[in-house]
Amino acid sequence: MFPVLLSRLLINLGLTTQRNAGNFLRNNCVLLNGVRIFDKSVFVYPSKDELSVCGRQLRLPEYSYFVLNKPSGFVCSSVSDSHPVVYELFPRELLAGTGNSPLHCAGRLDCGTEGLLLLTTNGTFSNMITRPEFHVRKKYEVRLSSPVGNPEFYKNEFLRGISVPSEKKSEAFTAAPAELEFSSADECSVVISEGKFHQVRRMFSALGNSVTALRRTAFGPVTLDNGPAPGEFRCILHNELISFIEDLGI
Ligand code: URA
Repeated sequence: MFPVLLSRLLINLGLTTQRNAGNFLRNNCVLLNGVRIFDKSVFVYPSKDELSVCGRQLRLPEYSYFVLNKPSGFVCSSVSDSHPVVYELFPRELLAGTGNSPLHCAGRLDCGTEGLLLLTTNGTFSNMITRPEFHVRKKYEVRLSSPVGNPEFYKNEFLRGISVPSEKKSEAFTAAPAELEFSSADECSVVISEGKFHQVRRMFSALGNSVTALRRTAFGPVTLDNGPAPGEFRCILHNELISFIEDLGI
């Protein structure tokens, strides 16, 4: 359904490496739907395309796509001494992944952030939806420590692009314009189209406030409107993947 880059597919199948993918295509007759391919960055649609290498038809992997409603307190890394990891919320048989492409998070959430987390075995998917140039919109519900008396000021600052100072693990940056809507003096939603380290928390902190609760409710066309419940996951729907493809313009 969602495409995968030919180079990644060949790597997932254990046929080559990132570095050697170009050589592999030069030295082996790789046919995509009967046409010889030399460009490692063409897209392959595993559900409908036919791929052969030196006359041998390949069985293309089925990639998986999930929506997890992450509870606070879980980390998005694969191992942690101090916190449970999000992968513990999945049955073991789903974690094996596809060849060299295990299930992984597509755009992480902090340990203290809850809500919508996408996980996939398709590295092309995770790469594309998290690259800043594709401007995939993410929506967050935010609770602030200090009630805001001047919401218009906040809204204008977010729209103008906030200058976020550096912190230990991350450089300073100017955030792209973001949309902010207040539902009360200390609760709002924000839509951003980037995914910098601790971005939402740092944007509010740059204005002298701090985030006490953060929940992601939308990632591109995917929302939590129809579940899953906190701590549970569901498959990404066919129409959600199609919307991603349309939004990315691929
Ligand atoms: N912004 C944050 O500060 N944390 C997240 O987990 C996601 C966005």
